[in-house]
Amino acid sequence: MRQRFSALFQDHEIFVRTHGHVRFLRVSAVWQKRVALIAAVVLLAWAGATLAVLVNQLLTSGERAAVAQQQAAAAASEARIAKYRDNVAETAADLEDRQEQLEEWSKVHFGVEPAAVTPEIGTEGAAPAAADKAPLKTSAMIDPNLPPEAQILARLEARQEDFATRLLTAVNERAAKAEGAVAKLGMNPAALVRNAAAGRGGPFIPYRGRAGRASTLGKSFAALESALFRMEVLERTLVAIPSGQPANVLMLSSSFGYRSDPFTGAGAMHSGLDFPGPIGTPILAAAPGRVVYVGQKSGYGNVVEVDHGQGILTRYAHLSGFTSTVGAQVAAGQQIAKMGSTGRSTGSHLHFEVRLNGVAVNPRRFLEAKADVLEVKDDARQRVGSVAAVRGAR
Ligand SMILES: [Zn+2]
Repeated sequence: MRQRFSALFQDHEIFVRTHGHVRFLRVSAVWQKRVALIAAVVLLAWAGATLAVLVNQLLTSGERAAVAQQQAAAAASEARIAKYRDNVAETAADLEDRQEQLEEWSKVHFGVEPAAVTPEIGTEGAAPAAADKAPLKTSAMIDPNLPPEAQILARLEARQEDFATRLLTAVNERAAKAEGAVAKLGMNPAALVRNAAAGRGGPFIPYRGRAGRASTLGKSFAALESALFRMEVLERTLVAIPSGQPANVLMLSSSFGYRSDPFTGAGAMHSGLDFPGPIGTPILAAAPGRVVYVGQKSGYGNVVEVDHGQGILTRYAHLSGFTSTVGAQVAAGQQIAKMGSTGRSTGSHLHFEVRLNGVAVNPRRFLEAKADVLEVKDDARQRVGSVAAVRGAR
């Protein structure tokens, strides 16, 4: 790799003719390398400024205080520093790889398109702008005897490490909040993450980036990758939780579970909640999702089903009419049907079911989610929404 790098740069000699005098200019390979390296460093510094914007967007004021307390402990090791002496080009390529990974994550998880952010450029050109504003602890550990270009790279690496550490803290805090909210809803956060990682059934994360790549980029990157994955699973689950009222009428909150069958009087399992109301009352999607079924089902009469992702599905039954079609993407609160009394029904009402991986659960805990849970859910919805917007724009 070094040889290939060196082959790009060879000594050149140039004639320059001014005022009748002919002069010789020699452009050495070393000089060319230095210019190329500085250009690469400036590009990396721009990307760094982008990521600083991202961190700011991500952190709430409370989180910023927490981050400030947690100093960046990561330092480039002595061996790594020594490598710079011989291996400047390889190190630059390595840094670029890591930068690329960080940018990919910012797109995938935060909807931040680095190219859309106006970079802040330092007046000194090669000097990383933000590093001057906020000197890093790690910068102090950089060997002053290194050649200047190696020092620039070492400083950049320290900034990347610092950024990864701060991002990790912020992501872990978000994930912890989502974990608390998911647990309050009666779900098992650890099992959700485990199932998603195993990739079998259950909650489904559509995109994980180039999994495994991060581990080759160092410990902090591997930690960041798994933290991002955990945050993604828990927050997407929260977004998929059907916490919206499926109709603006009072529910029979005791109707889930065993009860006597209204037709036979025998004990029967009732797998949903009933919402009595006038025929034609608008039926609303309880969470954002995709309509996956519109039609009749035995006993249920006219039915609409909405898939919210993460293994969560809602079913709306006994309808008198439909206002949605299969495949439609619906928002929370959007009308999908009209209340009725079709199927095995004794009077106009909505039968509302929530299914987790195919198993009916009591929707009540979702519909009665407390304000603190809904707040975390709203944060999650905003982040997931901004990611969708970026992906949609491509
Ligand atoms: Zn029912």
